[in-house]
Amino acid sequence: MPVNLKATHLVDATLDALLPSHCLLCGTRGQGPLSLCAACEADMPRNAACCARCALPLAAQAPLCGRCIRHAPPWDAAWVPFRYEWPLAQLESRFKFGGDLAAGRTLSLLWIASGVPHVLPDAIVPVPLHLSRLRKRGYNQALELARPLAKRFGVPLLHDALRRTRATDAQTELTAVQRRRNVRGAFEASFSGPLPAYVVVLDDVFTTGATFTECVRVLKKAGVARVDVWALARAPAR
Ligand SMILES: [Zn+2]
Ligand SMILES: [Zn+2]
Repeated sequence: MPVNLKATHLVDATLDALLPSHCLLCGTRGQGPLSLCAACEADMPRNAACCARCALPLAAQAPLCGRCIRHAPPWDAAWVPFRYEWPLAQLESRFKFGGDLAAGRTLSLLWIASGVPHVLPDAIVPVPLHLSRLRKRGYNQALELARPLAKRFGVPLLHDALRRTRATDAQTELTAVQRRRNVRGAFEASFSGPLPAYVVVLDDVFTTGATFTECVRVLKKAGVARVDVWALARAPAR
């Protein structure tokens, strides 16, 4: 699907000055607001056939993956439009670890152009970073991706409804079991306004689902009736 150029008005004007006019991946000059050439945009790995519950890429279209049939996750549905593979993974890595906000903007525009979820929530809650990591990185990549989506869909963004109360080890090198232990009890939920009935937790990459599971647990414990999860990209099962 071609990127909707109207989406560009959502982006802060301050970022426009930083935008390269060449493709972020191959360097071809003269690109538009997406900062990707048509060939690189076409290479983005779309998560077309996937589990409705956890967005795991499947070899053929099926309603659920084997794991969700055996043991359903605590959320109701997942929307994850891309697979965490080259070349999207390269942009995500530059955005998350290299301070490359132009790559983040391109990822936001790709997400917005990827489609519309079946049903919109009452609020979007980005997965928070612990203050120590936020200070080091300077921004929360989940919040940066959530902002344009919330504007596009007209859904309130509750960036402080979840708080990370404990600094956790980076999840990258951990096994699935270690990841669950690592994030257990690391989040707190609080709502300053009325409690929304239906919330989406948003993260950049969905890997094992350990972070989502913990966030959904505390949001439901706080009284939210329905919680879904959205992420930009789904990593393969581990
Ligand atoms: Zn290119
Ligand atoms: Zn599944």
